[in-house]
Amino acid sequence: MKKTVNIIGSGFSSLAASCYLAKAGFDVTIFEKNATIGGRARQLTKEGFTFDIGPTWYWMPDVFERFFNDFNKKPSDYYALEKLNPAYSVYFGKDDFITIEDTLEKIKIAFEKEEAGSSKKLNEFINTAKSNYDIAIKDLVYNPGVSPLELVTPKTIIKLNQFFSNIKRDVRKSFKNDRLAQILEFPVLFLGAKPSDTPSFYSFMNYADFGLGTFHPKNGMYQVILAIEKLAIELGVTIKTNASIDSIIVENGSAKGVISNGKIYNSDIVVSGADYHHTETLLEKPHRQYSENYWRKKTFAPSSLLFYVGFDKKLINVNHHTLFFDVDFNVHAEAIYDHPKWPENPLFYASFPSKTDESTAPEGKEAGIFLIPLAPGLQDTPELREIYFNKIIDRFERLTSQEVKKHVIFKESFCLNDFIKDYNSYKGNAYGMANTLTQTAFLRPKLKSKKVENLFFTGQLTVPGPGVPPALISGKLVADLVNKHHNSN
Ligand SMILES: Cc1cc2nc3c(=O)[nH]c(=O)nc-3n(C[C@H](O)[C@H](O)[C@H](O)COP(=O)(O)OP(=O)(O)OC[C@H]3O[C@@H](n4cnc5c(N)ncnc54)[C@H](O)[C@@H]3O)c2cc1C
Repeated sequence: MKKTVNIIGSGFSSLAASCYLAKAGFDVTIFEKNATIGGRARQLTKEGFTFDIGPTWYWMPDVFERFFNDFNKKPSDYYALEKLNPAYSVYFGKDDFITIEDTLEKIKIAFEKEEAGSSKKLNEFINTAKSNYDIAIKDLVYNPGVSPLELVTPKTIIKLNQFFSNIKRDVRKSFKNDRLAQILEFPVLFLGAKPSDTPSFYSFMNYADFGLGTFHPKNGMYQVILAIEKLAIELGVTIKTNASIDSIIVENGSAKGVISNGKIYNSDIVVSGADYHHTETLLEKPHRQYSENYWRKKTFAPSSLLFYVGFDKKLINVNHHTLFFDVDFNVHAEAIYDHPKWPENPLFYASFPSKTDESTAPEGKEAGIFLIPLAPGLQDTPELREIYFNKIIDRFERLTSQEVKKHVIFKESFCLNDFIKDYNSYKGNAYGMANTLTQTAFLRPKLKSKKVENLFFTGQLTVPGPGVPPALISGKLVADLVNKHHNSN
C-alpha cells in the first residue's frame, strides 16, 4: 500500500514537494488554510485588472526549467514566458533614471555612460557572479543543509574568502558611482538582508539579473502556481482548500497526521510548507525544536506594505518593473534592520504588468503594484497605510512628471496584519528568513525535525531560502529527504 503524506500549505514549496512525492509513489494530500492556493504568490482580480499579490520578478528561468524537466515537462507546456526588455528602470530623481535592458552588452553601454571604465569592471564582476551561479544554483543549493561539509567542494574552497566579505564592500570597491553601486546591490535584497550583511558569494544574484534577465509569464506569476497545481493533479495529488491545520498529531515521538477544522487526517508522514515558526506552534511544546528566543534572534527578511491599484489611463515614463531609489537606502535599511520603525522616506518598487501584458488590465487602463519594504513586527493601521500611499504617490507623480492620484479607480492594500492573518507569518514577514552568513545552508532551520519522526519542513524559512526558485528547490529537497527516510524505514 502507498505511504501517505499530508502537506500543510500550498505555496511554491509545498506544491513542488507534492509533485516530487507523488512521482515517487506517495499518496499526497495538500491542506491549504486559504480559499485559493499559492500562498504568498496568490492573485487578486478586480474590475478586469489582474495583480500578483506577491512575487512579480521571474528570475533564474533555468530553475523553473529544471523543475518541470524532472517531470518530463517544460514551462511552455503550461505558460507563455516573455523576456522583458527593458528588464527594469531605476529612478534617482525627477525624470532621472537608468534603464537596464535585456542583455549584458546593452547594460555595459548604460554603465559606461554613467562612469567611464565601468563596463570593464562590470564584465569582471559578472564573470565572478556567473562562476558563483554555476556553483551555487546548479549544485550547492540542491544540498539539504544537513552538514557543513556540503559547502566544502574543490570549487568552493578557492572561493572561501567570498564568504567572509560582503556584496556592499565588493561593489563599492569596484564602482565609485553611487547609482551604479545601488543597482548592483539591488538583486541581493531578494535574499532578505542588507548588502553589507550578505556574503560576496551571493553575487550569483547579479548574474541572475544581468546575465540571465527578467522574465514575465503571460497573465502573471500566478500562472506558474496554476501550472504546478495542474502537474500535481496529473500526478494524483489531492488539494484541499479552506483546510486550516489546527495541530499536528504526534504519537510515540512520530507524526501521525494532522487535525483540520476539528477532523483527524492520519498519514505516515507530515510535511509543512507553512511558515516554520507557525508550524512549530501546531506541536505540543516538548516537540518543538526552536525556542521563541531562537526566532527572536534571527534576521528576518522584511515585511512589506503593498498597494494594488487600478488606474483609468495608461501611465508614462515607467516600465513593467520600476524602482525608486531617489532617497537614501542606508537610512531606510536602518529602519528595517537596526532600529525597526516606519521609514521617513522609503524607497519603493512599482510594477505595471499591463505595460507589457495586456491581459492584466482593461484596454486603455494600467494595473499598478507598489511595494515598500518594512521591518517585520511593526504596528500596522489603516491610517499608516494611507499616509504611506500618499507619500509614495506624491513622489511618484513628481519623479515621473504625471498626475495619477485622480486617475485611481480603486486601490487595495496588503501589509503586516494581512501577512499574519493570511499566512500565519512570523511577525508579518514577507520573504521568510534572510540569507546571511550565519543563516546559510546547514545553519538554517532544518528540513527534517530533530524531535519528531516523520515530520518535515519546507519553504522560505528553511533551505535554501527566500524567493520562488529557492521555494521550488526546497520542495525537491524535502521530497528527497522523505524518500530517503522512507526507504531506510
Ligand atoms: C510581496 C512579495 C513579493 C515577492 N517578490 C518576489 C519576486 O518578485 N520574485 C521571487 O522569486 N520571490 C518573491 N517573493 C518571495 C516568494 O514569493 C516566496 O519566497 C515564496 O512564494 C514562498 O513560498 P513558500 O512555499 O515558502 O511559502 P508560502 O507561499 O507562504 O506558502 C505557505 C502556505 O502555507 C499556508 N498555511 C499557513 N498556515 C497554515 C495552516 N495552519 N494550515 C494550512 N495552511 C497553512 C499559507 O496560507 C500559505 O499558502 C515575494 C514575496 C512577497 C510576499
